[in-house]
Amino acid sequence: MDESSCIVCDAAQLRLVLEFGPVPLHCNLLLATADAARAVPSGTIQLAFCPDCGHLFNRSFDPARLSYDADYETSQHFSPRFRRYAEELADRLIARYGLRGKTAVEIGCGQGDFLALLCERGGCQGLGFDQSYAAAADGQSLPEAVSVSREAAPPQAVYDRADLVICRHVLEHLAEPHELVAAVRRGIGDRPETVVYFEVPNALFTLRELGIWDLIYEHCSYFTAASLSRLLEDGGLSVASLVEAFGGQFLAAEASPTACRPRLADPRTDVLAETAALVGAFPARLQATLKRWRTLCADLTEAGQRVAVWGAGSKGVTFVNLVAQEIRPYGIVDLNPRKQGRFVPGTASPVLAPAALRSEPPDVIIVMNPIYETEVRRESDRLGLGAQVMSVG
Ligand SMILES: [Zn+2]
Repeated sequence: MDESSCIVCDAAQLRLVLEFGPVPLHCNLLLATADAARAVPSGTIQLAFCPDCGHLFNRSFDPARLSYDADYETSQHFSPRFRRYAEELADRLIARYGLRGKTAVEIGCGQGDFLALLCERGGCQGLGFDQSYAAAADGQSLPEAVSVSREAAPPQAVYDRADLVICRHVLEHLAEPHELVAAVRRGIGDRPETVVYFEVPNALFTLRELGIWDLIYEHCSYFTAASLSRLLEDGGLSVASLVEAFGGQFLAAEASPTACRPRLADPRTDVLAETAALVGAFPARLQATLKRWRTLCADLTEAGQRVAVWGAGSKGVTFVNLVAQEIRPYGIVDLNPRKQGRFVPGTASPVLAPAALRSEPPDVIIVMNPIYETEVRRESDRLGLGAQVMSVG
């Protein structure tokens, strides 16, 4: 990638915010053996900020170092809290766009969890595309109305049928996100009634809440509302709605084709100003957060406390890798059975089912996303663990 200009707006005046790492190249690629987990290569993040459009991205991102095969697993649908979010999103899209009997296409659909939910609740057809799709690996099959292809992108014939195009948590993985937006725009062609739904992590949440565990090599981009709307509008899509979702952690955009409308002056100057201020303070705040958690974990270990980390997604994997010198968590807990029994890249910590904690209960459970704290407490109580539950963030 061209390291000297912004990947969203092409402006040349970038600010290097910080260098971060080394972190494992893949956070969501869990390994079958501890040796394989230790052998996962690592990379460094050079976080750059574009004051023109408010975008943040990893200037040293190299997509050739990443691969998304069938071992790549990001589903959060095993969490009741996440599932509730997904159901509410599906219901909102169904109600707003009258999807009954229509066709939804999802680019980067993972194992098809969201598409299945949408089609079941909305009575629509679903066509999913994802290179990491592993057909019925865990014996769960998709509903009849849903089919998933391991092709990365839909062919034109699929676009021609699409009433809704969904693309969740894909744009941030791409070195050239405008290419995907352009492909979607080309695919929709002159069907102005087709709606596109994009969802990405919200960089402002990471900056505000010090979600430093969200800085992962797999993410090239960290979108703000300003940079996401700029990307979509420049790609010929008209943004009808762009809101924060999932407790502010995500950005959700609904857009539709527009006939080469000239881009309006960006009304989001308030977002740009807030982003610039947060970016300025971020490096020092990040270091302070890292130090606080390393000290806390060192103290717990010294006191002989047994620590479990809850959540083997990006945040948990990054957390154990960054504080690994101080903490020896005897396991990372995850509700997703596709993750259990596997090992975390870098530290090679084993991924456990919650029930596995019963034999040697932890003294402390560190929850990687505060939005899940209530359900973790409930699960800890149900299993009779008697552990102290604390959240990162
Ligand atoms: Zn820019």
